[in-house]
Amino acid sequence: MSHEALAEHEREIGQAQAALIMTCAFGVQTLGRQLQIPVIPALDTLFIGKERGVGLFDEICTQCGDCILGETGGLCPVNQLP
Ligand code: SF4
Repeated sequence: MSHEALAEHEREIGQAQAALIMTCAFGVQTLGRQLQIPVIPALDTLFIGKERGVGLFDEICTQCGDCILGETGGLCPVNQLP
């Protein structure tokens, strides 16, 4: 979506000196590679979450680097198992 969003707002972005990015860290880095102006993260990425409702997120992965979902039937031992 970033290409389409950037194209849609090309004129405004062309006049900007910096971009305040309200996404996770992945989005900030993606846009940082596409824009020719400084990007400023507006949010602090805490975890990879799944939205349960408006503004309610369940932490489903902390990117531990040792994923064993294939051995636990899809349940994360770090975030979902007691
Ligand atoms: S084990 Fe859990 S925290 Fe680790 S990578 Fe897999 S889903 Fe993410």
